[in-house]
Amino acid sequence: MPLNASPFSVYCTCVIALLGLCMGSFLNCLAWRMTHGESVLHGRSHCTSCGHVLGVRDLVPVFSWLSTRGRCRYCGEHVSWRYPATELLCCVIYVSILLRYGLSIEAVELIAFASVLLVLSLTDLDTYIIPNATIITAIGIRCAYIVASAFVGQDPFVLLRDSFVSGLVVGGAVLLLSLVMDRVLGRDSLGGGDVKLLFVAGLYFGWQQCLFLIIVACVMGIVMGMLGQRGRGSSEGEESRLIPFGPAIALACWVCMLCGEQVVGWYVGLF
Ligand SMILES: [Zn+2]
Repeated sequence: MPLNASPFSVYCTCVIALLGLCMGSFLNCLAWRMTHGESVLHGRSHCTSCGHVLGVRDLVPVFSWLSTRGRCRYCGEHVSWRYPATELLCCVIYVSILLRYGLSIEAVELIAFASVLLVLSLTDLDTYIIPNATIITAIGIRCAYIVASAFVGQDPFVLLRDSFVSGLVVGGAVLLLSLVMDRVLGRDSLGGGDVKLLFVAGLYFGWQQCLFLIIVACVMGIVMGMLGQRGRGSSEGEESRLIPFGPAIALACWVCMLCGEQVVGWYVGLF
């Protein structure tokens, strides 16, 4: 159901925006726990510096951070701007998907996938690792969508076949390319997690859109690498030369969600 400017659609957009803010806060917490080896199911949210358990007023997305001017209420330690930024980004991503797809199972699928992409981007930024749990979750969401598609008149078997053929083509091609690049450069060019993530992108977007996705990811990767280098300075060691590619692929996936089909349609129309 496409959304127009009716009061109902304004209401839906507000609900999704609020959900995006809250989920952004939750996904931040989830990513932090995954990178610090804490249980993702048990334990209450706490300050990462003093360990004080956070109350309700510390957990309001964006506003809690603004009200304490980016400091912990209990120990005064600086709280990274990345927390409110992720919450706002999650809100923008959710709303953009709703506006693009309306109230549909595609929107539900892509909002769930975007949430996984956000978590793996945060873990990749911190640890240069894309956890297998995020890859498996993304594959699970795609499979659930394929099953659900039978209820809206699509053939789930055709969708399953096309998705996995595309995933294997994209993942296989990127794996082959990275092995050649490793040989030529004499060092690791692309992480295993990046290859798995591109396989997942193939499942969701098909190999045609993935050609566009990889170009966008490379441009984003170069820009993020340059910004990161400037932020860190040039005097650091081997670690500073590593560029996490996961966030660039994740951003490219978001671009594909919003306009991948149109770009491929336009390009095919040129011939
Ligand atoms: Zn604290």
